[in-house]
This record gives sequence, structure tokens and C-alpha cells, in this order.
Amino acid sequence: MNLEESPLAPLDPARPIIVAIDGPAGAGKSTVARHLARHFGLLNLESGAMYRAFALKALRAGLPLGESAPLESLAAETDICLECGDQENRVLLDGEDVTGLLRNQTVTDAASKVSVHPPIRAWMVRLQQQLGARGGVVMEGRDIGTVVFPHAHVKIFLDAAPETRGMRRYDQLGPQPAVQPEEVIRDLRARDERDRNRADSPLKPAEDAILLDSTSLTLEEAVLAAEAIVASRLSTTV
Ligand code: C5P
Repeated sequence: MNLEESPLAPLDPARPIIVAIDGPAGAGKSTVARHLARHFGLLNLESGAMYRAFALKALRAGLPLGESAPLESLAAETDICLECGDQENRVLLDGEDVTGLLRNQTVTDAASKVSVHPPIRAWMVRLQQQLGARGGVVMEGRDIGTVVFPHAHVKIFLDAAPETRGMRRYDQLGPQPAVQPEEVIRDLRARDERDRNRADSPLKPAEDAILLDSTSLTLEEAVLAAEAIVASRLSTTV
């Protein structure tokens, strides 16, 4: 991704801040990040969408997702671009808008697998640092506060019990989903396991992250709690 071509250039210089939101799947990161971005006038960047786009390319190429070297070669000829929208990021993979192709279970599993490989992570981290270089962003993911922006002004680690997260995901599938809630919870635990136990930048709270457990909160309450955290940090740091 070439920053010069990125649509993310016009940032508000009065707000050169970076807000990092990390946590496991289904904790509410996307909802919280979207609202924070709107509330504080920041760009909302979903780092997971970049891993998903690359996973889609690897699937299309038929590459084994457990082998690092072929994935690294593929990454060298891949261009991923994020465009900020009101509701979600538009994701361009080598110029193709793949936004609508990234949320199915196959790509979700593949993203979790390709993100284990250190060369892929190193490449993604570089891209993400370029995107956030001028500040004015909320970036959500798994390693934003620990690796991508260790000096972020505000770091929130958003968590919730696996059953709560699984049921939220299940409810998002709409009426009469083809899977049972137990399957959704099982898949989510498997992704958690990979994210938390990989050798390179595992999912964990940064030492200076503020922990927000949304298990007993509605997503609206989680958003308000996150807004209060950011507001209080900004009043003391910016
Ligand atoms: O956040 P999302 O569910 O879209 O992320 C897809 C996958 O990409 C996650 O399961 C995780 O394994 C990986 N990921 C990551 N580091 C990030 C963002 C996502 O490893 N910063």
C-alpha cells in the first residue's frame, strides 16, 4: 500500500492522536472504534480487514495457509488499501473492492491462520504504521497497542466472556442462521487460542492499556465507557 496514493491523507492536524483498541473477536471493538472515530473526529482503521483481504488472496491462489514462505512471496506482490467509510472500511485488494467478500467463515478462519506468520505480521505492521503515521486515527486489532503503536495516546483492551462474544456474533448472523450458537462459540475460541498463543505478537493487553470488560454491558454502554476513557486521556495528554 502506498501512502501517497492512500485516501487517508487529509487528517486533522489539530488531532494528531492515536487511539488503539485491541481485544478478542466479538468483544465489540468494531462498534466501539466506529463510534469513537465519529465522536472525536478521527479516522477508523480496521487492521483485521487487511489480514482478511490478504487471506482472501491466499485462498484464491490456493496456497497452504500453514507455510510462511509462499505467503511471504505473495505478500510481496500484494497491494492492500483501506478507505474509511461511515459504517465500515472499504478494502481494496490490488485495486479490487473486496469489502463484501471478507466476512464469511472461510476467510475468517484463513485470516486467523495467515496472521500467525512473522513475515506477514511484519509487513502488515509496516502498512498499518504508515496509515497511522500522521495520527488522527482509531485503529483496532490484536497488537495495535503492543506492537503497531506502542506510543498510542490511548490504549483500550476490550474483552468479554467467550460465551457473550459468541452469542453477539451469532445474533449478528440474522434470522435462522445455518449454524448453532455452540459452533460460533467454538470457532471463536479456536481463533482466540491462535491469537493468544502465537509466538509473534500474541493478543494481550499492553502494560499501559485500560481494560474494559463488556461482558455485562450492552454495546451502547461499552461505547460510552470507551468515550469516557478517551475523553479523560485526551484532556491530560493532548
Ligand atoms: O478483527 P478481525 O476479526 O477482522 O481480524 C481477523 C483476523 O486477523 C483475527 O482473527 C486475527 O487472527 C488477525 N488479526 C491480527 N492482528 C490484528 C488484526 C487482526 O492478528 N491487528
